[in-house]
Amino acid sequence: MRHSLMDILVCPVTKSELTLEVTREENGEVLNGTLRCEEGHVFPIKDGIPNMLPPDIREQLDTSATHESGTNDAEPVT
Ligand SMILES: [Zn+2]
Repeated sequence: MRHSLMDILVCPVTKSELTLEVTREENGEVLNGTLRCEEGHVFPIKDGIPNMLPPDIREQLDTSATHESGTNDAEPVT
């Protein structure tokens, strides 16, 4: 991602500004790093792509791998 992206990127949870920590950069493009908001949300940048999924959504995606067969279908509909 380019540094100019910081102008439009905000935390998807709190809409607050993000702080960029660069771990790898090439030709003005951030390849690896971390975006942090004031509230402590952390968003990783991998291969130049910022992962802006809110942390709780990311957890849901992780746990959905265990495939819960959720709904209680014994209840009659009244
Ligand atoms: Zn946040």
